[in-house]
Amino acid sequence: MAATDTAALKVDKSAKIFVAGHRGLVGSAVVRRLRSAGYTNIILRSHSELDLTIQSAVKTFFSIEKPQYVILAAAKVGGIHANATYPADFITINLQIQTNVIDSAYRYGVKKLVFLGSSCIYPKHALQPISESALLTGPLEPTNEWYAIAKIAGIKMCQAYRIQYKWDAISAMPTNLYGPNDNFHPENAHVLPALMRRFHEAKVSGAKEVVVWGSGSPLREFLHVDDLADAVVFLLENYSGLGHVNVGSGKEVSIKELAELVKEVVGFEGALVWDGSKPDGTPRKLMDNSTLAKLGWEPKISLRDGVVGTYEWYVKYTKQQ
Ligand code: GDP
Repeated sequence: MAATDTAALKVDKSAKIFVAGHRGLVGSAVVRRLRSAGYTNIILRSHSELDLTIQSAVKTFFSIEKPQYVILAAAKVGGIHANATYPADFITINLQIQTNVIDSAYRYGVKKLVFLGSSCIYPKHALQPISESALLTGPLEPTNEWYAIAKIAGIKMCQAYRIQYKWDAISAMPTNLYGPNDNFHPENAHVLPALMRRFHEAKVSGAKEVVVWGSGSPLREFLHVDDLADAVVFLLENYSGLGHVNVGSGKEVSIKELAELVKEVVGFEGALVWDGSKPDGTPRKLMDNSTLAKLGWEPKISLRDGVVGTYEWYVKYTKQQ
């Protein structure tokens, strides 16, 4: 189809949609949202069934399955510590996955692809709130530049295919996400799930204190993954433009406020101890969400409600382990 900025695309509810990365935080939420929106032909592959880093496997998959739409939510993700510890994995695996999927999707006749990135694509000292136009206007935050460079390449690849082939590839850049199916690893997870797990384990073991990284002063914007998934389906159905689109909640909290909220929701009654030897990362990361607002989308889940729901999920999930 011709790539335009307008809502040119009518997506048939029985269209074949491949959600890459359906076991992760984002992919699983996108599948839930597609199903609740009435999409009936969603195709999924686990990592063991299809390794997206292997070009030949991805080509074979697309040549046989011929999906009509692709939501590219598969990625190697992690928090500030994981990014700093595994820079080679973060840049290489992400470049491989997105290059293979975007190129094969185009070559095997996919009508439209939605690429998912992250707010860490923006310069460390970008003007706040960060608008889409801040991309590539300054140096990145060093703790996650490997991941960011890969994601920037993904945006540019979508734009290049749109320009050269008139192919409908769009990009959405979510802010810090959280929700069910997140990674709750003590060191490698993002701050919200990492703290949820730490407070929960401290509550269960009766520990007197919990260590939180950094100074507590960095500001972050959090979005529940179900809101993101709603935005992804909205963009799939309503947006076909060259520019990437920010997806955020528009609300920011300090890491200290976040830690106190998670502590309260979990019901941990001990003390917080700040470990200043751990990095703070970028000082502030609030996105300008006006592009998406103008298109007619807004988030619905408050941070408190989202943390409560995620904790309920976490408790149920850990009981099943
Ligand atoms: P970022 O938004 O890319 O910096 O990713 P993170 O979610 O990993 O970190 C956000 C902020 O939370 C940083 O300032 C961290 O230092 C702080 N933080 C506090 N405690 C933790 C923790 O246990 N894990 C992580 N990942 N970050 C923490």
